[in-house]
Amino acid sequence: SEGRRPLMAGNWKMNLNHLEANLLVQKLAASLSEKQLTEVETVVLPPFTDLRTVQTAVDGDKLLIGYGAQDLSPYQSGAYTGDISGSMLAKLGCTYVVVGHSERRAYHHEDDALVNAKVVAALANGLTPILCVGEGLDVREEGRHVAHCSDQLIAGLHGLTAEQVAKVVIAYEPVWAIGTGKTATPEDAQEVCGEVRNRIAETFDEATAHQVRILYGGSVKASNIAAIMVQPDVDGGLVGGASLDAEEFAQICRFP
Ligand code: PEP
Repeated sequence: SEGRRPLMAGNWKMNLNHLEANLLVQKLAASLSEKQLTEVETVVLPPFTDLRTVQTAVDGDKLLIGYGAQDLSPYQSGAYTGDISGSMLAKLGCTYVVVGHSERRAYHHEDDALVNAKVVAALANGLTPILCVGEGLDVREEGRHVAHCSDQLIAGLHGLTAEQVAKVVIAYEPVWAIGTGKTATPEDAQEVCGEVRNRIAETFDEATAHQVRILYGGSVKASNIAAIMVQPDVDGGLVGGASLDAEEFAQICRFP
C-alpha cells in the first residue's frame, strides 16, 4: 500500500522442535521465488530455542527470509533469570521482535508501561519491534475498540522520536480473532489500522505515519489474506497457526 513493502510475519508461538524449524524454513524458501521474497518481506518468529537453527539455515543457504523473536527483556543484562535481552537477539541475527502480544499481556500481565520499555529496548538494539495492539470481545461489543487500540498504541510508542516510530511495525490483532478461526472483516481491519495511522500522524507527523507498516493478525489464512491486503492501511499480516504450514504460509506470502 502506497509504496510500503508488504510484510508477512509468521508467529510460531510455542511450537516446533529444531528439526521441524529447519524443515519449515527450507520448505518456505523453496516455495517462494526470489522475486516473491523481494516483493513481500517474509519473516519467521520462532521460539528462542529455535533461533540458532533458523539462523544457521538462513545464513548457510543465503535464504531471503528474515527472523526474529516473540518477546524480549526490557533490560540489557543482569540478574533477570529466564529472560533474553535485545542484544542477545541481535547477536543471533534477529531483525524483528514481537512486543505486547495479547498472549503475553494476558498470561504474563504485561501492561502498557512494560510494553513501552520493551519497544525502547528493541530499538536500542537495532531490532524492529512489532508492537501488537488489539481489543477483547467485551471491548468490541461495547463499541470501544478503536479508542482501546489507539490508547495501547500511544502508550506503546511513548517517548519515541518520529524517526524511531517510522521504524516500528504495528500489528492490529483483535483478541477475539486470534486462534479462533473468526477473522475480522476486511472493513474491521481497515477501521482500526486506519485509526492507527491517523493517530501516528496526529501524535508525530504525516510523513512518519505514511512510512509505518501496519499488519493485521487474527486467523489469517491463504483464503482470506487477499481481501485484507486490499485495504489501504493494511501493509501485511501477523500469522499464527497458518504460519506452521510451509505451503499455507507461502501462499499467504504470494497474496498479490
Ligand atoms: C497471532 O497469535 O499472532 C495470531 C494472529 O494467531 P492466529 O493466526 O493463529 O489467529
